[in-house]
Amino acid sequence: MSSQEFNLRGARILVIGAGIMGAGIAQVAAQAGHAVALFDAREGLASQARSKLASTLNTLVAKGRIDAADAAMAIERIEPVTALEQAGEVGLVIEAVLENIDVKRALFKQLEMLVAPQCVLASNTSSLSITALANGLAHPERVVGMHFFNPVPLMKLVEVVSGLRTSPRVADSVFALANSWDKVAVHTRSTPGFIVNRIARPYYAESLAMLQERAAEPHVLDACLRSAGFRMGPCELMDLIGHDTNFAVTTSVYEANFFDKRFVPSLVQRELVDAGLLGRKVGRGFYDYVEEGSKPQISSFSPSNAPAASALRVVGLGALADQMTEALSKAGCRFSRDTAAHWVGLEADGAQLRLTDGRPATAIGDEVAVFDLPLAFKTGATLAWAPSARATDAWCMTASRWLRVLGFNPQRLTDSPGLVVARTVAMLINEAADAVHQGVCSASGADAAMKLGVNYPAGPFEWLASWSPAGVLAVLDALDTHYRGERYRASPWLRQRAWCEAPS
Ligand code: NAD
Repeated sequence: MSSQEFNLRGARILVIGAGIMGAGIAQVAAQAGHAVALFDAREGLASQARSKLASTLNTLVAKGRIDAADAAMAIERIEPVTALEQAGEVGLVIEAVLENIDVKRALFKQLEMLVAPQCVLASNTSSLSITALANGLAHPERVVGMHFFNPVPLMKLVEVVSGLRTSPRVADSVFALANSWDKVAVHTRSTPGFIVNRIARPYYAESLAMLQERAAEPHVLDACLRSAGFRMGPCELMDLIGHDTNFAVTTSVYEANFFDKRFVPSLVQRELVDAGLLGRKVGRGFYDYVEEGSKPQISSFSPSNAPAASALRVVGLGALADQMTEALSKAGCRFSRDTAAHWVGLEADGAQLRLTDGRPATAIGDEVAVFDLPLAFKTGATLAWAPSARATDAWCMTASRWLRVLGFNPQRLTDSPGLVVARTVAMLINEAADAVHQGVCSASGADAAMKLGVNYPAGPFEWLASWSPAGVLAVLDALDTHYRGERYRASPWLRQRAWCEAPS
């Protein structure tokens, strides 16, 4: 088949499954100008989906968001069909039926008898292997994943998933088509979780691990990660997604990776599932959504006067050390700078307040406290910190006051490696690095996927560029040393980068 044969521009499309995703895909395709046949095994559902779409588009017309004629034409282009045979000649099929490999395989087998050889068969599966879906078909090379995100009309990302036998021309045609629909397509290989569902695992897993160790409470973890720029903290997000769904995705990625401990699910989450505390949809998960105002809040930011110190030094180089210098000057402190040391922070009369390098404070010394990575620094930003288990009460109080002088709203945790943001972001970067190392996606693909698929404030490789491979590696190695086992092993890609960037 020539590349010409896979040109999908203007093709008639068959969407199978008129549920949440299928209806959204039909809408987007019709709005992009395609004639769409819509089929669902449940009688009447395709027509219902079309009527629902008509009222949604009419509401948007009434609000002045879309043009009345465009809306009418888009609705006109959708034809509900009651049998696959009625779909007519189509250039692309997108299935969005039940997430079950046997159902999807049987459907593709049936389609092979109905559609022309150059018709592309796409699956919107979020977890099944495209390689396995294509197995047994006469033309496995035309099977591809087209993974949209919910809600389809609003979410920009489409993961274009190639199985082992998918023709690159098919993947490229689908990629170009998705881009022409005003989406952002990224190529990925058919591996467990594809890009987003794989790289996002640590966002939940690290908080769940900290909860299991009782290092912090859910509202504190959420506040710290929101301050780092994430739209929602991990606990409130898991409550929104539903713990049953989130646990199922985690378990499937874990099993599909042959029980690699990197992806191990959490007992904390399984307890919530076992208890039926599934999150918002049932009124309770980590938080209570029934009783108004019962969600715990962190205390609000209160600035502090500088504590007395006869010898005060700002230690280290870089933007954070400069910010500290500025804050201390504003507070009227007398201090010196030490740019030779290999850590960043403050030293007050010999006691140290250090930016985490991954090690717990207790592993560093006695009068030591560590603070988290201030990823998106703004005055009053919530920031985790922890004192050494051997620190005096006096230093614990003073360290917290210094953090307020520096403009942070400090939240004290039990001393643990990498605290909240450094630990979570290092693990997100690590997972993305492994995905690139294993040829699952490109670095720019990973960045686009995480920003558009789950609304991260930056992509993992953008964080890496503003941190450093050596800094990320230090946090991962400290976690690995602390916990032992497979979970925190650094990606070979990242270690290689750190070697390349090390001064010779
Ligand atoms: P849904 O339950 O809302 O819709 C599925 C529809 O498929 C139902 O209307 C059902 O009647 C129909 N169906 C089932 N078997 C069929 C068959 N053999 N032939 C024709 N129709 C059949 O489910 P959904 O949330 O729209 O998910 C559909 C697919 O999209 C799944 O593969 C899912 O993993 C994937 N997906 C879902 C989301 C999400 O957030 N819901 C996101 C990305 C991908």
